[in-house]
Amino acid sequence: MLTVQNGQCGMCAHFGEEHPQERQIVQIHQKHVAPEDFVDECGHPQHAALHLKVTAISGCDAFEPADNGAAR
Ligand code: SF4
Repeated sequence: MLTVQNGQCGMCAHFGEEHPQERQIVQIHQKHVAPEDFVDECGHPQHAALHLKVTAISGCDAFEPADNGAAR
């Protein structure tokens, strides 16, 4: 498992944005850890059309904290 820091995709509102209630997304937000091989689609408007897939520890300057993530 990888530790996911605030500012990385796993804690971003756009990570798995199409299915934010999926168990693995919720667990990453709550526990700040993710499997090494877990990837999901970035829903940011500038990336969505490209179907960009990112790992939980990837990142970019468009990071926005997930509602149910950084506050916990
Ligand atoms: S690539 Fe950027 S916008 Fe997309 S999930 Fe990661 S930090 Fe968020």
